[in-house]
Amino acid sequence: MAEDKGNKPPSSHPVRLRTRRPCPVCKQPSTQKYHPFCSARCADVDLHRWLGGQYAVPAVDAPDFDEAAPGSGDGQGRSGDED
Ligand SMILES: [Zn+2]
Repeated sequence: MAEDKGNKPPSSHPVRLRTRRPCPVCKQPSTQKYHPFCSARCADVDLHRWLGGQYAVPAVDAPDFDEAAPGSGDGQGRSGDED
């Protein structure tokens, strides 16, 4: 009893252009109507994953913009004396 481990076929299959991707949620064949998902349910599941923050979204550090920008003096220099 000798296992010939060196006779294993490669795990990577040649990807055909016309191949359909499986549903990323349940790995079932996706349908064209709910592409790339197999059903509306799976599309909804994926959406909720996004909303739930389960997916790692690369956070981009927003540059610190000056909120109190000098120059826009609001309140001063107002000569509105009507009332
Ligand atoms: Zn699915």
